[in-house]
Amino acid sequence: MIALRKDIRPSQAKLDQLEVFQAAIEEKTTFAEKSAEAKRLFSLRNTKKNPVFKEVKACLSKMCNSTRRCVYCEDSIGDEVEHIFPKDLYPDKCFSWENYVYACGPCNGPKNNMFAVFKQSDGQFIEVNPTRGTSASQPPPGEAALINPRIEDPLEFAILDLSGTFKFYPLPDLDPKNKKRTEYTYDDVLRLNHEEREPLRQARENAFGMFKARLSEYVSMKTKGVHQNKLDKLIDGIKKENHPTVWKEMQRYYNDDLLKKVDPKLEDLKELEKLFDSAPEALTW
Ligand SMILES: [Zn+2]
Repeated sequence: MIALRKDIRPSQAKLDQLEVFQAAIEEKTTFAEKSAEAKRLFSLRNTKKNPVFKEVKACLSKMCNSTRRCVYCEDSIGDEVEHIFPKDLYPDKCFSWENYVYACGPCNGPKNNMFAVFKQSDGQFIEVNPTRGTSASQPPPGEAALINPRIEDPLEFAILDLSGTFKFYPLPDLDPKNKKRTEYTYDDVLRLNHEEREPLRQARENAFGMFKARLSEYVSMKTKGVHQNKLDKLIDGIKKENHPTVWKEMQRYYNDDLLKKVDPKLEDLKELEKLFDSAPEALTW
């Protein structure tokens, strides 16, 4: 899951227009009516020609660290405006800019209305998505279980195992609630570790090899005294690659001294440590 840039937003005029769109939903009386209206109005407004959504999409693109990727799998093009809080369950957030990310169909489809909260009344974890064939009912108030890449940094919850599995695991020092949130997000909803999505795991492993090869090329070019313009091109390429979390995790492994602790037999990671030693500037890319 990509840690999105937090400093991008549409113009005030377009945000005002989103509020106008939202007001039409609020006019409805019951939850069922609001939910149905949200669905209807969103497909009506979210079109290529609509200037509000044109700008929304341009902003969502920029937030993905320069290349438009699905925020969840980081592998495909993000081509669907996805509601973090599903619009069927939260029609009050249907036209909320803060509720949008760019996702791909294979991630957005299964996620659909999957959602869970920790109930405000007793803190209990409860799934609030409607069962198949039924329509959504109003969820109880509570904190969302899904990690929200618009306001949270996914790397504060999960660690990507670079030593072999290339799967995501909850960070070891998480409290039970955040551990549950991480497992729910990565395993239950997005299924980023699931065997059905093995090509994604493979892609993360490949990305690791590619980032390391590019860093190695950079170190070698720098040693030869190649002009800065050429180095900048290489740096830019690294920043625009798929799976930016793999690169961020490689940096964290070095910064947190995890590379010093890995088994010396894991030659790839030992080499990575040497590369960052030779090019500490790469830790800021
Ligand atoms: Zn995806």
